[in-house]
Amino acid sequence: MSANQRTLSIIKPDAVACNEIGAILSKFEEAGLVIVACKMMHLTEKQAGEFYAVHKERPFFGELVEFMTSGPVLVQVLEGVDAIAKNREVMGATDPSKAEKGTIRNEFAKSVGENAVHGSDAPDTAKTEIAFFFKENEICERT
Ligand code: GDP
Repeated sequence: MSANQRTLSIIKPDAVACNEIGAILSKFEEAGLVIVACKMMHLTEKQAGEFYAVHKERPFFGELVEFMTSGPVLVQVLEGVDAIAKNREVMGATDPSKAEKGTIRNEFAKSVGENAVHGSDAPDTAKTEIAFFFKENEICERT
C-alpha cells in the first residue's frame, strides 16, 4: 500500500559549491516530490557529528564531518507518496560509479564521500532527521 510520507533531504556542500541547487531541486519536483520546508545553513562540527552519529565508528567519520562542514548545505523536507523510497531512487547509489544514469549522484556526485545529496533511509530515521532540523510549524501543508 502506498502512503503519503515526508523525508529529509540535504544538498551537500559539494553540490552547493558547484551551483547545482536548482538542478537538484528540479529532479525532486520532476519525480513528484513536493518541497514542504527548505533552508540553507552552514553546519557546525557538533551538528554534523550528531546528525551522522550512527557512523561514528566508521573509518570515514572524520572525513564525513569535515566535508559536511566545509560549506553551506540546503536542507529540505520532501513530501509525497512513498517519498522515502522515491527520494532514494532519484538520489541513486551512495557510490556515484554505481548510481544509475539520470540519478542525482550519477550526474552530480564527485565520489563516494562527496556525493551531492543525503536522503533518509527509513520512516523512523526520516522522523528523527526532520525533527533534527525543523520545528513542526516550519513545515508547510502543500498536499
Ligand atoms: P547514504 O545513505 O547513501 O548517504 O550512505 P551511507 O549511510 O552508507 O553513508 C552516509 C554518507 O557517508 C555517504 O552519503 C557519504 O557521504 C559518506 N560515506 C559513505 N561511505 C564513505 C567512504 O567510504 N568514504 C567517505 N569519505 N565517505 C563515505
